[in-house]
Amino acid sequence: MIETKNLRFSYNGMEVLKGVDFKGEKGEFIGILGPNGAGKTTFLRCLAGILDCRGVFVRGKPLNEYSPRDLARIVAYVPQRVEPSFLTVFDTVLLGRRPYMGLTPSDSDIKTVEEALKRLGIEHLSLKRTNEISGGELQKVSIARALAQEPQILLMDEPTNNLDLRSQLEVMRLARELANDGKTVVTVMHDVNLALRFAKRFLFMKDGKKMADGGLEVLNERLFEEVYGVKVEIGEIGGVLVVVPI
Ligand code: ADP
Repeated sequence: MIETKNLRFSYNGMEVLKGVDFKGEKGEFIGILGPNGAGKTTFLRCLAGILDCRGVFVRGKPLNEYSPRDLARIVAYVPQRVEPSFLTVFDTVLLGRRPYMGLTPSDSDIKTVEEALKRLGIEHLSLKRTNEISGGELQKVSIARALAQEPQILLMDEPTNNLDLRSQLEVMRLARELANDGKTVVTVMHDVNLALRFAKRFLFMKDGKKMADGGLEVLNERLFEEVYGVKVEIGEIGGVLVVVPI
């Protein structure tokens, strides 16, 4: 579905992705983990086509051969931070329909927006401007906008930032549901425990390289020490796997 082959990327001559191979299939929920500066956001922005990278393939075709409109029908990206604006929540989510819309939104565009708002539990905010809502609510608006895009591949950069505990769980459950529905969900995560609980596959990155890629079987104390430079213990609480720094 989405693949990178020897993906490299440099900012002003400084190489921050040093040949990453990756493949995300339909129905997978993949958490990208690693310390600050590992290249996670850069990697996600390459997958989204925001940065001009060679070596990204979407459904077998080089990403840079897609028109922006065609790509937007397949890939949606939720950035780490969204700027609030004078637009209402409804209109902001409606922007997600742009790759499909003619001059004016159709009834089905409106319905898709309503469904996305409902899925994130923010219908009641529809008529508020995005500069009149909280950071956590704005984060949900951004996710709803991506859902309205009806993508096959959903890329999210730390989607649980700004969210309270309950909303974090809701968003992660939603991500898992979307994967179960057949989408490919790739999410940069800071919260290791949240990732372990909900994602099915983990891509560990450090210094622009892939350190591990796989399911729960790739997790062990040594990997965390290698990637984060922290000694941890991995155990189970209430049937949930947890990583505790020691
Ligand atoms: P992560 O998401 O893992 O924290 P990033 O992909 O944001 O890592 O950053 C990887 C490296 O690239 C860091 O060293 C960061 O300072 C650098 N970097 C990120 N964005 C830019 C930019 N726009 N210009 C120059 N360097 C950048």
